[in-house]
Amino acid sequence: MITIRNHTFSTYDNDIRALVNAFYPGVPIQFGTEQVTESGRAAETEIFLDIDSLKCEMGPIGESGAGRDSGIITARFAEKTQLKKALYQRLSAQTGRSLPWGTLTGIRPVRILEMLEQQGLTPAEADSRLREQFLISADKIRLMKDIYRTEQEVLSRIDYRNTCSLYIGIPFCPTRCLYCSFTSNPIDLWADRVDLYVECLKREMQTLAAQHADAGTHRDRSGFIPALPISTVYIGGGTPTALTAAQLDRLLTEMEEIFCIYGNEGAAAAQPDVAGKTPLAELTVEAGRPDSITEEKLRVLKAHRVGRISINPQTFQQKTLDLIGRRHTVEETVRAYELARRLGFDNINMDLIMGLPGENLKDVEMTLAKVRELQPDNLTVHTLAVKRAARLSTEQKAWGGIERKGSSPDAGEASEIACMTELGAECAAELGMHQYYLYRQKNMAGNQENVGYAKPGKESLYNILMMEEKHSVYGLGAGSSTKEVIYADREAVRPDGRKKVIRSDNPKSLKDYAAHFGITL
Ligand code: SF4
Repeated sequence: MITIRNHTFSTYDNDIRALVNAFYPGVPIQFGTEQVTESGRAAETEIFLDIDSLKCEMGPIGESGAGRDSGIITARFAEKTQLKKALYQRLSAQTGRSLPWGTLTGIRPVRILEMLEQQGLTPAEADSRLREQFLISADKIRLMKDIYRTEQEVLSRIDYRNTCSLYIGIPFCPTRCLYCSFTSNPIDLWADRVDLYVECLKREMQTLAAQHADAGTHRDRSGFIPALPISTVYIGGGTPTALTAAQLDRLLTEMEEIFCIYGNEGAAAAQPDVAGKTPLAELTVEAGRPDSITEEKLRVLKAHRVGRISINPQTFQQKTLDLIGRRHTVEETVRAYELARRLGFDNINMDLIMGLPGENLKDVEMTLAKVRELQPDNLTVHTLAVKRAARLSTEQKAWGGIERKGSSPDAGEASEIACMTELGAECAAELGMHQYYLYRQKNMAGNQENVGYAKPGKESLYNILMMEEKHSVYGLGAGSSTKEVIYADREAVRPDGRKKVIRSDNPKSLKDYAAHFGITL
């Protein structure tokens, strides 16, 4: 148990917790002056951290960082940056460890680089700021810079400021994976109500389309913002291919009709069904679980000109798949992939996870050997992150004996995870891919990251737009989030040049979500 006393900087409790957990993964944290047992007596606490005492190590609050969203330094951000640096140095001295991502605990490291650039720093100045203020390792700075450059190149292909994206969530899966914290329900239990869920999606799409059609503007919480054309659509989940072929066909047809859009794959322009509709720059369906993929479903996706799909092995080790509850075989993954190739899909992503329970470097090498053989067009290399909602956490007693590499303070385990992610990067490079997007999550094994790799021209626009909050993404479906990104030139509210991001979330519960549309699930 770690006890943290923090009177002065309590507004940064979440950041403090995240940084302390990065040094001490898996160790419970409490805020207070001392640990008190049920009997009311002070209990033994293994580590005691006095945040107030960092004050004298922070120095004057000044030119230390960047303000969120803007490139404009805010006093709060500067203070937080210096506090985290002082805390990092204390924890590093205490543990004898350093973290590859330094003081960064947020999801979007590339945004820090963007802010520094917006402040007018030269590349050398930005480098030294990242190194000295955020204490990021040279390797990770290189990674951020590479990805930032690629993102800019990829984004130059579309007019992202004058378009928006849609995310459609399908919260059903064949089974629930042990590490999953997404909105996912067992398809077997819900099979007789999935048609009603698709009906809810139709009504939600109609509502959104009607709002946007309202004299070219729609009203959000801050006022009127322009209705913008849709450039990318991502159908994710859950597992979209948990739907039947007929349900997928209905969903895609209704989406095309309601928003007057169509997938960009193939020679659609000459076909009568797209007359009067606008082509999307990208339409992705996350097929995801190989045990949900059939030829009939893939043919439906092809007929709707879906350009990009994901078929996710996570690992090619059968013993691991069995352990993590994915209920499909390695052979099923290979069969689904080969089938998709035969049907003409030429942009296929594969998700892998490094640090899965029980896996070592040899297991990862074996998985990557199979990836080399299959040659996908995108490879997304995740590092295991176990959140509170995952079965690995909620059923901790049952799974407590499972080895989770990099989720303990052991430095050896952290470096093994780092080797795994390096092997993933080498494999992607051998397949002619480059890294193009990056994000981090809470509780990542070994303080690593998730990196998307793609062959040139096969990068997912949506992934960058959504992750870097480059434009509005409207989330439809249970558990989906909408993020409206409003640039200052679109409204008078923010004259300081900052863009504004407004988030709203749909209910996670299927029943609560459906109730919004007068439907009982
Ligand atoms: S396939 Fe994905 S969404 Fe479904 S249970 Fe597994 S991790 Fe969760």
